Amino acid sequence: MTHRILIVEDEPALAEIIKDYLKQAGMEAIILQEGTNAVEFILSTEPDLVILDVMLPGKDGLTICREVRAQSDVPIIIETARIEEIDRLLGLELGADDYICKPWSPREMVARVKNILRRMENNSNTGAAHPKDADFVLDEDSWTASYQGRPVELTRREFQLLMVLVKRPGRVFSRAQLLEQAFPDDAMVFDRTIDSHIKNIRQKLKPLAGDQELIRSVYGVGYAYDG
Ligand code: CA
Repeated sequence: MTHRILIVEDEPALAEIIKDYLKQAGMEAIILQEGTNAVEFILSTEPDLVILDVMLPGKDGLTICREVRAQSDVPIIIETARIEEIDRLLGLELGADDYICKPWSPREMVARVKNILRRMENNSNTGAAHPKDADFVLDEDSWTASYQGRPVELTRREFQLLMVLVKRPGRVFSRAQLLEQAFPDDAMVFDRTIDSHIKNIRQKLKPLAGDQELIRSVYGVGYAYDG
């Protein structure tokens, strides 16, 4: 089955580049050059994934993302003009699946698209249409965790970190956000500590979840729990 990708991008040259690369990768792409009717278009045509620019004539990408997300789980990759902007966007809780900074390499863009589509397929193959947190039970009173009914031994910090991620499946958190939300009172935890905690959690989950990567690394940004 050919995947249909919608590119909402007002720079025709950029949009054509993505389109060509997606085509070479066996996908079909449609280009929309402005934002006015993007929400209606997405909801009625149901593409498999949307690549969405932030600055658009008519209606901006952030508004489009919010409005679509209120009605649809279609995967969305947001293109931003500045890497610093990603942190701000994360804070807005738009519900995007990934963020990519301009200028991106077309290969990187295609890799991100494929990655998300593969994840979606894995989820539907296992019978879950969307990432869900029901597999995880994290009991805040007893500080105990289990995955699919099997106990997971976590340290207190690992538990706190996982809690933030699992509560919002699919959402990308920056390291700074994880730090702030998981350890609000802990001055001894630093950005890089997040990476080592994640590494430990992944190792503990591996025997339970097999090949399924439950915690996804988002390059240059942070982490998300995909369930
Ligand atoms: Ca633009």
